[in-house]
Amino acid sequence: MTATYPPATPIWCAGCGHFGVQAAMSAALQELEIPAHETIILAGIGCSGTVQNNLGTYGYHALHGRVLPTATGTHLANPDLTVIAAGGDGDGYAIGMGHLVHTFRRNPSFTYIVMNNGVYGLTKGQDSPTFQSGVEALEFDAVSLALSIPTTTFVARGFARWTAQLHRIMVAALQHARDGQGFAFLEVLSPCVTYNDTYPLWEATLVDIDANGHDPEDRNGAFQTVSELAENGHMAVGLIYRNGADQSGTTAPNPAAAVVDPADNAAAYAELLARYSF
Ligand code: SF4
Ligand code: MG
Repeated sequence: MTATYPPATPIWCAGCGHFGVQAAMSAALQELEIPAHETIILAGIGCSGTVQNNLGTYGYHALHGRVLPTATGTHLANPDLTVIAAGGDGDGYAIGMGHLVHTFRRNPSFTYIVMNNGVYGLTKGQDSPTFQSGVEALEFDAVSLALSIPTTTFVARGFARWTAQLHRIMVAALQHARDGQGFAFLEVLSPCVTYNDTYPLWEATLVDIDANGHDPEDRNGAFQTVSELAENGHMAVGLIYRNGADQSGTTAPNPAAAVVDPADNAAAYAELLARYSF
């Protein structure tokens, strides 16, 4: 018998946007019929990172800012697993920023969900890289960054309160990664009601681009849409960009599939050692 992990009760404050993100994750996994034992959620540090306790999948709590290299290694070791990295804006856009850029560049087939609330909630309210003091455009926009890197294949943004759209985007992200089509980046605007309640700001300024005829396969058009909205104090929400070309074979190689039996490699090892013999 295999022991199963009983999901924990969320520890989040009442009204926290992370409840909506977790509900969307759970519903998407159910809709795609991905079994818990074929799924792992790797989480960053912060309130959002506790999501990996709350679903009955495998879970792993990574070091601060290191969820992406950990998830990349997990995906390479077992490409059959559905790998979901999840964390906050502090974890992913501050200490983890270098890893984000290089994960966009490498395009490994797993999903990354960033619960962006513009604040460090777990440590009681310090400004994060995406803190907004008013309706002005974000000082740092991960969606624009993603669009500027030519190897990105899936870029989306949801809002925790727009549950129907968030569900659709979550399903699309998981499907993209499961199909081996590359890195599915999904930022979810997920307000921290205790330290930075952005529900009123975001409800007044977000624009649902899915409802406005946006073509998600046009990278330049996506960049223009996101930039123009930002100039006017708005943020684009929806499926912002998806590369429609088949990405099979363009993502990171699978070292787990390599032959590592010493007997099969003896000649190559001998040749290598001979180069260092004096
Ligand atoms: Fe959510 Fe903020 Fe409470 Fe953390 S402090 S659980 S982010 S509302
Ligand atoms: Mg945060």
